[in-house]
Parts: sequence; structure tokens; C-alpha cells
Amino acid sequence: MATRAGIRLTHGRSPLLAASESSSRPPPVPCLPLSKPKPYRRHMLVPLWRPLAPRSSPGPSSSYRTGFSSPVASMSSSSYEKELAAAKKAAPLAARLCQTVQKALLKSDIQSKEDKSPVTVADYGSQAIVSLVLKMELPSEKFSLVAEEDSADLQKDESQETLRRITDLVNDTFSSDGTYSISVSEEDVLVAIDSGKSEGGPHGRHWVLDPIDGTKGFLRGDQYAIALALLDEGRVVLGVLACPNLPFTSIANLDGHSSENQTGCLFSAQTGCGAYMQLLHEPSAAKISVCATENPADASFFESYEAAHSLHDLSGAIAKKLGVQAPPVRIDSQAKYGALARGDGAIYLRFPHKGYREKIWDHAAGSIVVTEAGGIASDAAGNNLDFSKGRYLDLDTGIIVTNKKLMPSVLNAVQEAIREQTQSASLL
Ligand code: AMP
Ligand code: MG
Repeated sequence: MATRAGIRLTHGRSPLLAASESSSRPPPVPCLPLSKPKPYRRHMLVPLWRPLAPRSSPGPSSSYRTGFSSPVASMSSSSYEKELAAAKKAAPLAARLCQTVQKALLKSDIQSKEDKSPVTVADYGSQAIVSLVLKMELPSEKFSLVAEEDSADLQKDESQETLRRITDLVNDTFSSDGTYSISVSEEDVLVAIDSGKSEGGPHGRHWVLDPIDGTKGFLRGDQYAIALALLDEGRVVLGVLACPNLPFTSIANLDGHSSENQTGCLFSAQTGCGAYMQLLHEPSAAKISVCATENPADASFFESYEAAHSLHDLSGAIAKKLGVQAPPVRIDSQAKYGALARGDGAIYLRFPHKGYREKIWDHAAGSIVVTEAGGIASDAAGNNLDFSKGRYLDLDTGIIVTNKKLMPSVLNAVQEAIREQTQSASLL
């Protein structure tokens, strides 16, 4: 039997939501001390925005496992310091919006598993917030965003009520958080969403966003993530994962749940500077690292909760070959990358059904969090994940994430299991 991580809540529908509708690693860069927070500047697209003093600066960092304090200096790099700070503002704010929507969705008495409108509203709202915050925080940078959503459906006549609700939610989120004094129009929201139409590619800088990764988990009340990364010349140079429902303490060996009730994690990483985790909406971060096990028998593994997203029978066969004892931990979204990066499990296996093309926003942020925590991500042929090819990852074999010691044996087992499966399919 598989285990799963997540909060368990009652499902239902709320009046708020009621309208129906729709690598190779770049060379390491030196990590310099955080500079003083700069005053915010007005952005042209958002006329009502005005600067407020930042509410808090990051506290001291410490090691996630040992609690050992290390200087904040190790958390930033000369190259992407501003961008990481902006991403760490944008993703948690988008998470606030998603948390509001999910709370309202799950509080209501009526079962509404089939109603996709809450996730639609939260998806668009999250993308709008991330786009607006990045533009406000980095006003002088050329802005390119590769994101999952566009506004085509929202522009339709029948979507006017939904657009109004999204705009209200975005404004409510900004005003309840208080960092930005801003009021956006419906037009601003459409423009912000459509900033995400970039094609990415091997040149220049591109933000990569999944506004809600794990929409199925979001609707179930389980795991989801706001996943934001930055590509520079085709390589992921920073990533942030906001996981509102992930327990702060390890979910390993706890039947997928944590005994502690502190929930909500923010993972962050930039190239050459390590990976960090903090409580979502709290300032101090701790350095994290992948689990060091070299023995596959001790390694528990993560996979998608949804069997439609990954072949559970194939990963089961691989686990058997490796002698893995523990049952798979099935959770939604890139929360798997975060949990692996802090050592809750040692292997993440993902084998989509034939014909599925992986999108870069489903792996960019997660992969840098894991690699900066000392792990490694590859396709089933052992190649680094290549984020330079546009909106899709150029692979069709599956994705393997683990620590460097385990990778050779995991890769062997994966390739053997795939060969055997192909052979038995050809005999049919
Ligand atoms: P996970 O929660 O790890 O299963 O991944 C969630 C992500 O899987 C979603 O954000 C989708 O982009 C992606 N997805 C959707 N359909 C499929 C599919 N058929 N196979 C693999 N991944 C998918
Ligand atoms: Mg996704």
C-alpha cells in the first residue's frame, strides 16, 4: 500500500468560488552577503502601486537537520540575488491566494470534486500575482515569463464573472498581505496573465512558472505547489517552491503525515549556493540536503499520487529490483522535489504514459532545489534535464531524481525494468 502526505480536510463548495466555468549546472557563482533591502519602485503597468517599507528581512539561517546556525551570507549570490528575493516574495503571495481559495473550497458542505472552477480561479490568480510582483520588484529587467496559463478563455463573454472574481481575489490578497499598496483592474489581470506566453529557449533570461502545480491535489485538499524558476541561457539558475500543505517536519516513516501541525514550506535555491527551506510566510531559512543513503534497501521513494501521471507498476518493478522495502510515498506536485531535497525520501520516479510531453514548469524549480541540496535529476537515459528547448522538456523516457551515490544503481534498475516491460509488450 502506498502512503501519502497531506492535510485531510472536508471537501465542498463555497459561495466565494461558486461561479461555474470554466543540466548541466552553470559554473558556480560566489555567494555574497544579502544586500540591504532596496526601496520598492513603482511599475508602469500598475498605476496605484506605491512603495511600502519591507516588513521583515530574513533571519539567521540554520541547518534543517542539525539546527546549526550558519551565516545568512551563504544564501545569496552576486548574480541572482535580486531575482531570488523577488521570487521569494512572489511565490508566497501567490500561495496566500491559493490558500484562501482552497480553504473556502474545502469548508463548504457540498461535495464538488468535479467542479474545476476553484482551481481555475486560483490558477489564474496565482499567475497574475507572480507576474505583477516580479514586474514590481524588478522594474528595470526585461521580463519574459513561460507559464502554464493564458487569458484566452478568460476573455470570453461567459467568463466575465470569473474574471471579476479573480481580480477581486488578487486585490484582496495584496491588501491582506500589506506589502504592496496596489489595486489592479480586470485589464491589468489579463495583461499580467498573458505575460506568461513566452516560449523560453536557450538565450536570455526567462521566468518559468507553474501557478498551481498539482491541481488534482489542490482540489482534493492535498499537496500542491507554486513553482517558480529562472532560466539564464537555457539553464535553471534559481528556483522557489511554495508548498502550502507540506508539513514542516519530515514526512518520512510517518505514513505520509507529520505528527507536528506546522504546515507550509518554502524551498529556495540558486545555482552554486545550496538549497534552503523555511516555513511559508516566515523569514528564517535553514539549509537542507538530500538523504545520504547508499543502500537502495533503505531508500523510500516518491511518485505521483495520480496513476494517470506516472506508471505505478513500472516504479513498483524498479523498487523491487532495487530491494526497496518501504511502500511508495505518493504525493502531488513538486512538493516531491522539496521533500526529497530535505531528505524525507531518497528517490523520485516519474514515468508518464506514452505520448505525454513534460513541460518545463513542472520540473524547473524542483530540479534546482534538489540539485542544490546535493541531489541529481536525469531522464531515464541518464541525461541531464534540458530546459533550453522551449516550453517542453525534450524527453520521453521518464524522470529520475535521487542522490549521487544511488543514481547509478537506480538508473540500471530503471533501464532494466523498461527493457523487460518493452520485451513483454512486444511478445503480446
Ligand atoms: P504530479 O502531481 O507530480 O503528478 O504532477 C502534476 C503535474 O502533472 C501537473 O501540473 C501537470 O502538468 C502534469 N500532468 C498532467 N497530465 C499528465 C500526464 N498525463 N502525465 C504526466 N503528467 C501530467
Ligand atoms: Mg504542473
